[in-house]
Amino acid sequence: MTKFTDLNLNPKVLKAINEAGYESPTPIQADAIPPALEGRDVLGIAQTGTGKTAGFVLPMITLLARGRARARMPRSLVLCPTRELAAQVAENFDTYTKYVNLTKALLIGGVSFGEQDKLIDKGVDVLIATPGRLLDHFERGKLILSDVKVMVVDEADRMLDMGFIPDIEKIFGFTNPLTRQTLFFSATMAPEIERITNTFLSNPFRVEVARQATTGENIKQGVVMFTASRKDREGSEKRKLLRALIDAEGEKCTNAIIFCNRKSDVDIVAKSLKKYGYDAAPIHGDLDQSQRTRTLDGFRAGDLRFLVASDVAARGLDIPAVSHVFNFDVPSHAEDYVHRIGRTGRAGRDGAAIMICVPRDEKNLADIELLVQKPIPLIENPLKTATSDEPEAEVAPAEEKQPSRSRRSSTAKKAEPKRDAAPKPVAAEEENSQKANRKPSARGKNGKNGGEVIGMGDHLPSFIALSFEERRAES
Ligand code: AMP
Repeated sequence: MTKFTDLNLNPKVLKAINEAGYESPTPIQADAIPPALEGRDVLGIAQTGTGKTAGFVLPMITLLARGRARARMPRSLVLCPTRELAAQVAENFDTYTKYVNLTKALLIGGVSFGEQDKLIDKGVDVLIATPGRLLDHFERGKLILSDVKVMVVDEADRMLDMGFIPDIEKIFGFTNPLTRQTLFFSATMAPEIERITNTFLSNPFRVEVARQATTGENIKQGVVMFTASRKDREGSEKRKLLRALIDAEGEKCTNAIIFCNRKSDVDIVAKSLKKYGYDAAPIHGDLDQSQRTRTLDGFRAGDLRFLVASDVAARGLDIPAVSHVFNFDVPSHAEDYVHRIGRTGRAGRDGAAIMICVPRDEKNLADIELLVQKPIPLIENPLKTATSDEPEAEVAPAEEKQPSRSRRSSTAKKAEPKRDAAPKPVAAEEENSQKANRKPSARGKNGKNGGEVIGMGDHLPSFIALSFEERRAES
């Protein structure tokens, strides 16, 4: 097995790694660090949770340890899609630069320009930024990027989702291709990402650590099929079901991230949980930065049990011990499912991911199953057995409908992944485990069984529903 000492890292970096308690490099680190240290461009196909951040931070520190930054001319640049991810990368730099004197600045929205300008004026070795804020600084004439020796693009697939690719191309254009080394990371290689890497990377060393769009084997997954008693009660009945699902997990659920597709639902779900005595707080791009940071810090420290989040706000967050992920909605973008459930089961721990699926989301569920190449086991609606004398019930009890989707139609066959063993259901009930053996749901069931054929309507991927300005504001 490769050891950190085999990788040619600066001894001061090795000392900091040792103190951080990491014994050996993760596969992406073992593969990406040597070519990065040789000055090669690296294309890393890896999700969060693989240790990819240290995969670029450690060689960067080693490469930058000699030399000094000049005013307004950063020596390296890390581009991240969201503020949270940028802050996390900055924390990584703090950890590993303990014994190396490097200056850094974090350019993210929601923080005053003045402080950021002062740092840039002094000269920084490492500039960590979201694309929108970086361009704002650049366009104000405060920044010169031609001296950037190492440029990192992190979570490029997310940049694509958020409409940042034109910004990334612009930023590449401000750097010097002859002296710039590029380290480029993406969980998946969409054609647009492929195009960018072909354009801006020079003979990159390609490192791929996990199959594209796989979901961790240590994460138990389940989906509850749910039909509201009335259309106008869907929201409140789903929230009730969510509480029941949380309760059913009992003490196993030490903490959880609850994902909603819409920012407005993030607020409503958090408020509702709080009202019912659950320790919950929301996080999404409309909240101010100090509030987001406070909420996240509380969740990391174990002071907050439930974090209700939008995809953008939670993407890439490194919170090592999250026992559960609840998908209040089926994500409309199948890739998001992989990213959402990747928040649990990190660093070899077990995790659970439970999702609520209403009939109109069945097509999205089928898309997810196609992507992950396995069916998500059905789990029982816990409200089926719940009594109706709950205190202060928000709404009438949810209708107890059997799952409407058929997992045995002919189209399902096409979607059936190859698999050796049936996945385990989240709640290991006999009845459910039989259902778990079923095939992935069929796509578009011609309006039968509640899976009506629909246009974009409610199924607009959340990032498309955002205006460009909103997407920038999210970053
Ligand atoms: P990342 O994929 O960069 O978000 O990292 C995921 C998690 O792995 C973080 O909690 C890191 O602190 C942790 N980590 C990074 N490198 C190592 C390593 N070599 N050994 C163990 N854990 C690591």
